[in-house]
Amino acid sequence: MNVNEYVVVENIDQAYQLFNQNKKNQIIAGGAWLKLSVKEVNKLISLDDLSLNYIKTNDKSVEIGALTSLREVEMNDVVNEIDHGILSTAISQIMGVSIRNLATIGGSIMGRFSFSDIIPVLLVLDCQLYFHNRGEMTINEFITSKGLDRDILTYIKINKSTGQSYFKKISHTALDFSMLNVAITFDGSFRIAIGSQPGMAMLCEQTMAFLNQQNDISEDVIEQAVSIALTELKLSSNIRASKAYREVLAKTYIKRGLRQVIK
Ligand SMILES: Cc1cc2nc3c(=O)[nH]c(=O)nc-3n(C[C@H](O)[C@H](O)[C@H](O)COP(=O)(O)OP(=O)(O)OC[C@H]3O[C@@H](n4cnc5c(N)ncnc54)[C@H](O)[C@@H]3O)c2cc1C
Repeated sequence: MNVNEYVVVENIDQAYQLFNQNKKNQIIAGGAWLKLSVKEVNKLISLDDLSLNYIKTNDKSVEIGALTSLREVEMNDVVNEIDHGILSTAISQIMGVSIRNLATIGGSIMGRFSFSDIIPVLLVLDCQLYFHNRGEMTINEFITSKGLDRDILTYIKINKSTGQSYFKKISHTALDFSMLNVAITFDGSFRIAIGSQPGMAMLCEQTMAFLNQQNDISEDVIEQAVSIALTELKLSSNIRASKAYREVLAKTYIKRGLRQVIK
């Protein structure tokens, strides 16, 4: 990466102004991904002096500053209690500790990575994002909207819940990106998200609506739910897996996940 100027900003307004001055100005968080991907940067804007590295908790929620490392999120006791630690479980399967010490929660969201193991999990938690300019929005609004890439994420908030959860990353090797990932939570109602389709993760809205109107989750209901999921998912092929293989994975792991969360 070639950088003309490195700027450590003093406040978030300055960061936002600089970021929007020139398409070649770029925010850097942990830099783990950015340094591998971007070639030419005019001004590289560091948020390091803005105190965005924190985890604050109260009775109802956890607030995580955008610059908090994945490792800090993974190891946090309160995060570990939310829906049986599904976020910590997913983070713990990303590369090694050295990358997780560098990479941040903000960079993991703003990168909008279609291979992300974190976005599907945030989709099944009760998670809000807080942007400097746009203010509050849900993670689902963020990934389904366009034109938000020049805003700055300041923190995320996850409402506490003690439901059951299931996360499965299916990859060729432990350090590879997912061929598919499945995140499910259940606290009286179901939330299901699938990532690495290989396109962007999505909530299975129709499947959730079907399950959430059932009184009894029998094997037959689970079979029907999986059929609905397969019609609404946007599975396709890439170098990691074919569409047909992803369909088999989705069927298998959605079923296993549903059985696990209703135990
Ligand atoms: C080798 C490698 C393997 C990986 N494997 C996986 C994997 O298997 N699964 C997985 O889920 N993830 C994986 N990741 C991604 C990783 O978990 C992080 O999501 C990634 O490194 C981005 O975080 P970062 O802090 O490094 O962000 P950066 O690289 O600093 O930034 C990423 C992008 O987000 C923007 N950005 C960062 N912070 C903000 C902010 N606060 N506001 C606005 N824009 C912002 C930057 O401008 C940039 O465009 C991998 C990363 C690497 C380097």
